[in-house]
This record gives sequence, structure tokens and C-alpha cells, in this order.
Amino acid sequence: MNTPRIAFLGLGIMGGGMARRLVAAGFTVAVYNRNRAKADAIAGATVAATPREAAAQAEFVLCMVADDVASRAMWLGVDGALAGAPQGAVVVDCSTLTVGWVKELAQAAEVCGCEFVDAPVTGSKGAAAAGDLNFLVGGSVAAVERIHPVLAPMSKTITHLGPTGSGALVKLINNFVSGVQVAAMAEALAWIEQSDLDRAKALSVLVDGVPGSPMVKIISARMTAGDFTPNFLLKLMAKDLGYAVKERAVSGQPLATAATAHEIFQRAIDAGYGEKDMAAVIETLRSGR
Ligand code: NAP
Repeated sequence: MNTPRIAFLGLGIMGGGMARRLVAAGFTVAVYNRNRAKADAIAGATVAATPREAAAQAEFVLCMVADDVASRAMWLGVDGALAGAPQGAVVVDCSTLTVGWVKELAQAAEVCGCEFVDAPVTGSKGAAAAGDLNFLVGGSVAAVERIHPVLAPMSKTITHLGPTGSGALVKLINNFVSGVQVAAMAEALAWIEQSDLDRAKALSVLVDGVPGSPMVKIISARMTAGDFTPNFLLKLMAKDLGYAVKERAVSGQPLATAATAHEIFQRAIDAGYGEKDMAAVIETLRSGR
């Protein structure tokens, strides 16, 4: 039986795990990554030289890259995926993006005879590799039904939140709350460490008490261990907080806690921690920089 052909663009921490899940599920997968070595590492997939080449003949084109700039580079231009995608293909961006760009991309896809779905995710490196992601989806009911079998091997849940842009918007709200928690935990832990308190005892009051959200539990463990192996790059959380502040400003409202958290993350980037896990945001607070 013929399985649908899939193009997968962007094979970083998240995209690499997701593409491997699709290959393991038996789909015919063509992959593209700017740095080709990451594409060569996806066993069982065909490596394309451009996004356009990857998308040619694909029924579904998926993308998972860093930000709006990277997403534009994947979809638009002479070598972009929209130049190669066949009419009738469903094109899906899973990256965390601005709502404005997602809506522009949906229009560009429509001009090419394709239908666009925004499908960003929650869950990190481990969930991507294990097929345990939560997809936050925006698009037409028909398109979301079509992509369901493709998202299934990568997902724990698939939540259709509304029309185009709804998934992108909920993802920004989700990461606003997550990023503020990480920044708050960094300030709290630095405060504990700079006091005469017993760190383990004081920390357990927070982590095992009401403030101990799943995010606070995960991030405080990494901060205390000093383990900054990338699961979610610090620079990408800063990007998401910046996008959230701008998105809220569209409705004339400030997002004060996100703006403050963004400043704290930006300070860590300026100090050279952008390519570390977001838990490294504590390092500038530890050193008082
Ligand atoms: P990553 O490991 O840094 O991968 C980023 C990907 O984007 C790589 O394939 C990279 O290509 C590509 N890229 C970056 N800039 C580019 C450009 N200008 N042109 C073309 N390609 C470009 O990041 P990730 O953790 O996989 O994150 C991917 C997306 O998922 C982001 O939107 C992130 O916010 C979101 N997300 C991440 C997590 C997480 O826990 N990691 C969880 C949920 C959502 P190269 O390899 O060539 O650099």
C-alpha cells in the first residue's frame, strides 16, 4: 500500500526526533536542513538539497525551525517549499511563530493551491523523540482531519483550537506562562543560595508546595545540578517571550511579567548563555551580572 509522502524541514532538537518518528511509522519522508549533516543523520529518509526539492511530490509538508526568520527561509523564495509543493498539499508549521507571520504564510500557501495548518507543540526533546508531543492546532476542520494520521505518531494529544493562528496564539500564551515561571524560579533559587538558608530544605518547600508546577520542578532540578545540556535553548525561550510581548501589544495591552522575564533572559544571552538550556538563565543571577 502507498503511504503518503511527507517532507520534513528543520531537523534540530525537536525536528530530528519528529522526523525519526515519521520514518519509524512507515511514511516516505524527504528531509531538508540548512546544515546538511543533521539531515544525513535521519536514517531511512531521503535528503533533499533545498526545501523546494523536499516538498516536490509531498502530500504533507511539515516544518520545525527556530523562528519567523527561519520559517520564511523554509517556505518562501525560489528554493522555498511553497515553490515545490504540489497543489492540494497540506502545509504545516510546527515551529513557535508569531500569529502575524502564520497568517501571512497561510495566505501564501493558498495562492500556491495548498492549505496551511499551524501546529506548534508543547513537550520537549524527550517527548519529540518518544512521540509524546501535544499539538496545538489552528486551521480548517477538513485540513486538521487530513493531517491527523501524520501527527498521530508524533503526539500524545492533538487539540484543534480554532481557525488559522489559534495554535500559534495559544503556544505564545503557554510559553509566556512557562518563561515567567523559569525566570521567577531562577531569581528565587539565586536568592536562596545567597542567603544562609539550607538550599535543599528551602527548595523543597517551593518545589513540593503550591508553587511546584511541572515546569518549576524540572527547571529547579537542572539549575541545582548545573546541568545546562540543551533541551530547550535559552535563546528560543527569549524569542518566545519577545513574541508574546509583541502579540499582546497588538491589542493595546502590556504583558508586564513577560517583559521582565524577557529582560532577564536577554541578560543571560548577552552573557553568552544563549546556546545553553534555558535553565542557565540562573547563571547571571548567581554571579550578580
Ligand atoms: P534547534 O535545535 O535550535 O533547531 C532549530 C532549527 O532551525 C534547525 O534545524 C536550524 O537549522 C533551523 N534554523 C535556524 N535558523 C535558520 C535559518 N535562518 N534558516 C534556516 N534554518 C534555520 O531548536 P528546537 O529546539 O528544535 O526548536 C525548534 C522550534 O520548536 C522552535 O520554534 C522552538 O521554539 C520550538 N519548540 C522547542 C521546544 C524544545 O523544548 N526544544 C519545545 C517546544 C517548541 P541548522 O541546523 O542549520 O542551524
